[in-house]
Amino acid sequence: MNEHDDDRRRLAVIGSGPAGLTAAVYAARASLNPLLIEGIDAGGQLMLTTEVENYPGFIDGILGPELMERMRKQAARFGTEFMSGNITAVDLARRPFPITVGARTILADSVIISTGAKAQMLEVPGERELLGHGVSTCATCDGFFFRDREIVVVGGGDSAMEEAIFLTKFGSKVTVVHRRDRLRASKIMQERAFANPKLDFLWNHKVVEVLGDGSVSGLKLEDTQTGEPREISADGLFVTIGHFPNTALFEGQLEMIGGYIATKPGTSETSVPGVFAAGDVVDFRYRQAITAAGMGCMAAIDAERSLEEHPVTETAS
Ligand code: NAP
Repeated sequence: MNEHDDDRRRLAVIGSGPAGLTAAVYAARASLNPLLIEGIDAGGQLMLTTEVENYPGFIDGILGPELMERMRKQAARFGTEFMSGNITAVDLARRPFPITVGARTILADSVIISTGAKAQMLEVPGERELLGHGVSTCATCDGFFFRDREIVVVGGGDSAMEEAIFLTKFGSKVTVVHRRDRLRASKIMQERAFANPKLDFLWNHKVVEVLGDGSVSGLKLEDTQTGEPREISADGLFVTIGHFPNTALFEGQLEMIGGYIATKPGTSETSVPGVFAAGDVVDFRYRQAITAAGMGCMAAIDAERSLEEHPVTETAS
């Protein structure tokens, strides 16, 4: 017996957002006895949202944290084992793959990575407190709540332009606040944004505080050239200044594209056999709970088939 035998698993799922939990539901029902390792931000980005109205099956909407709780219970019902802890190392060069969590080392025949991404925030007073109460990082998710309201979008990249253009369908007024006097966005997105009569631009300004008691009512801005302060009214603030995929643990071990894990098109297979990836850690295009869940399902099916076709017999030394 190897000293690690107790911690040998057929499948470890890393991450507990919609992708990881859906992967666990499928893997548990396929009798893979998955171990799901969740970090300090258990539940992922949906834990930071309030009402979710576009997840199919919930006619009247559902709160983000409640949706995650339901997915977690569903995964547990079929026998998923949960483990909380910070993973300090993963070695994808040896199989079974050693995963170090505190003092424990798990040896996993197969791994599904669903560690998600984080939206970059402005880190100004009021922003965190009002997240989900006027502050949002996703126009597709929350634009609908801002019908006929005043919306501010921060950022000058393609994401900011895409979100701002989308938000003009809802807002009475949509203003892009950008810290410089020119956009970073691609030419075509700039042309589309400038051609949209409902979009206003406030150049050379940064948000220094989000104002509001219970919900956003305005923003404190500062001129980035003169330092002059200014206040504007706003009902919604969309922070669209970039995302960070949570991939630090896997750097140099897996092929990546712009920091996101690369998968073989149409599958969840990464560049390492036996390692699969799903959700926002892969997806910089859709970033939705439902697409993450779908990708989690794909990863579980891919893992199950690969374990069936290529059973792992050797033991890591
Ligand atoms: P990005 O290109 O890095 O742009 C981030 C924007 O946010 C920049 O304008 C930046 O200002 C601003 N910013 C960053 N930190 C800030 C801060 N603390 N305060 C105020 N402003 C801040 O990010 P992205 O727009 O998310 O795009 C990421 C990648 O995805 C890009 O390659 C993009 O082309 C791609 N993308 C493509 C599409 C599309 O083609 N439809 C859609 C979305 C994303 P500065 O300009 O001053 O640096």
